[in-house]
Amino acid sequence: MGAVRTTCAYCGVGCGIVAEVSGGGDRGVSIAGDRSHPANAGKLCSKGTHLGETVGLEGRLLHPVIDGRQVGWDEALDSVAARMRQTIAEHGPDSVALYVSGQLLTEDYYAANKLMKGYVGSGNIDTNSRLCMASAVAAHNRAFGEDVVPCSYEDLDEADLIVLVGSNTAWCHPVVWQRIEESRQRRGTKIVVVDPRRTETAEQADLHIPVAPDGDVALFNALLAEMRRRDLVDEEYLAAHVEADAGFWDALPCETGIPDALFAQLCDLVAATPRTITLFSQGANQSVSGTDKGNAIINFHLATGRINRARAGPFSITGQPNAMGGREVGGLANMLACHLGFGEDELADVAGFWNAPNICTRPGLKAVEMFRAVHDGRIRFLWVMATNPAVSLPDSGFVREALSRCPTVVVSEIIADTDTARFAHIKLPAHGWGEKDGTVTNSERRISRQRALFAAPGETRADWQIIAQVAQRMGWGDGFGWASAADVFREYAQMTALAAARGKLLDLTAWGAVTDAEYAAMEPFQWGGTYPLAAGYPTASGKARMVRVEPATIAADPVYPFRLNTARYRDQWHTMTRTGLSRTLSQHRPEPLLEIHPQDALAAALTDGGLARVESTHGSAVFRVSLSEGQRRGELCVPMHWTDTMAGGGRSNRVPSQAVDPVSGQPGFKNSAARVVPV
Ligand code: SF4
Repeated sequence: MGAVRTTCAYCGVGCGIVAEVSGGGDRGVSIAGDRSHPANAGKLCSKGTHLGETVGLEGRLLHPVIDGRQVGWDEALDSVAARMRQTIAEHGPDSVALYVSGQLLTEDYYAANKLMKGYVGSGNIDTNSRLCMASAVAAHNRAFGEDVVPCSYEDLDEADLIVLVGSNTAWCHPVVWQRIEESRQRRGTKIVVVDPRRTETAEQADLHIPVAPDGDVALFNALLAEMRRRDLVDEEYLAAHVEADAGFWDALPCETGIPDALFAQLCDLVAATPRTITLFSQGANQSVSGTDKGNAIINFHLATGRINRARAGPFSITGQPNAMGGREVGGLANMLACHLGFGEDELADVAGFWNAPNICTRPGLKAVEMFRAVHDGRIRFLWVMATNPAVSLPDSGFVREALSRCPTVVVSEIIADTDTARFAHIKLPAHGWGEKDGTVTNSERRISRQRALFAAPGETRADWQIIAQVAQRMGWGDGFGWASAADVFREYAQMTALAAARGKLLDLTAWGAVTDAEYAAMEPFQWGGTYPLAAGYPTASGKARMVRVEPATIAADPVYPFRLNTARYRDQWHTMTRTGLSRTLSQHRPEPLLEIHPQDALAAALTDGGLARVESTHGSAVFRVSLSEGQRRGELCVPMHWTDTMAGGGRSNRVPSQAVDPVSGQPGFKNSAARVVPV
């Protein structure tokens, strides 16, 4: 096989890759950036560059397994279908749930959503993208009427000011960061970082705003109030394109929580640079007020007319390679399909298109609620695909207890022994990166092909295929008769006609008749074009909404006086089931560190390099102490990656609570009450 153009397995930048398999059956592969891909123009970060070190077969799940016994596919699929059928018969469709992943390809996601919402008849399908960008989705829906990212990467090339909110871009979206740095060198673009921590990105910024945890709404409200005071609100744009909530302007003035001089510096910079992009990520989204934060940022852009045109706009950047694809097909429990909601007409449209025997009639349970329902026995059949909730969800001790109580846990995985797979009754071997074939959507709405490099190892199958084969055994073969990923994509593209007919901007109908050859050769393309909202907003009035948002108040806890933040490391991905396979990547940060301000460490009798236990009411985890002047006093930071299947402890998600944003359901990982003690 010659060079194959595909996409990276990791973050939402969605870099194009040229991969060349060396042959000889050792799965050796050389990896280079794809110069022709608009997302990265040939650049890659360390994770993408070292993908070749993670494709070996050691530790792979290669055969179906039931209760620890290797079985054939027929037995495994029959068993999944029989258990699902029996659970539905005894406890109803809402006793079944799918917990899926931004690692799935769009075709896999589409099949899973169709199975649950059209055939099982329950909305109980949610995705680990709930932990990543659900707040941005909710903010988009509230402001724009649809989950639409109004910017494109090319805006970063010519912006005068880029404000990074809750984003350690240099580590978490490194190729976007390289693009920002190039703009800075080429044209003097200014960079502001709004983040409680002085991260590696903040170190390099022109201005770092060390906002308090969950202080973003207050900051952006105050910023907008100041822009109004300086007469920088775009009254013409507002009159033509925006509706403000009652009392919107009255609610704006806020205590910023930062020194006046620093705030004045920020305001001067913003006032002088209309070409402003605000790029926000998990630091904003993973919050009990994450949706309000997204709307506070969007409000600023709407009110100043800095949106829907080159070099200006609010830009949510996603964590996962296909969080966006999942959002598009309906992988979130509160969306039906293709950006459609649960209105009567929308339900009828979708039921008709799918010829669905059991269309669900209401939203399902979001991730944290879903695992509560598993814990208390309302959900009795759980199918987890391509994700590791026993590590990644908050209060992960509770999640493990839930998994241990669930009568049926099915896991579709590439790795045989993950923390979650240990609870599985049935394990189904899925294709991994390099074997998968389908499409993904990146943070700027660009759909790209992910292509197979290797023959599928062992008995692994594509996720969409596994789902279809279970559906066939449930007696629903007519709706799941696809022969290829291209078949699934064509059906999905045709279905977007339902959305387009309702004025939604997600419209892939031009791809509905794509041939297999055209699908195979598909070049990256952006749905909605560069500025999809420029022609108007997909709301009933055609206007955007400025949502009145007010700062969250977080009560101090005298027993757990620290505020705990969780973060990503540059060279690791999620729960390290893949990046942990690379020796090179593991050298960057070989163990999980607790970052704490030196004075807090002194008061808590902690020493640099010693061990400390971080505790909350939910659980605790042990870390090596790293003193950091970049931490604010009273705040802690630990990485999210480490698991119990690795030596050394540091499973941070034992500690955060199940508190979620009331609108988006996204957990507040960035601001949990905790205390710290020496070990
Ligand atoms: Fe992969 Fe993201 Fe790195 Fe690009 S920036 S190579 S998509 S991890």
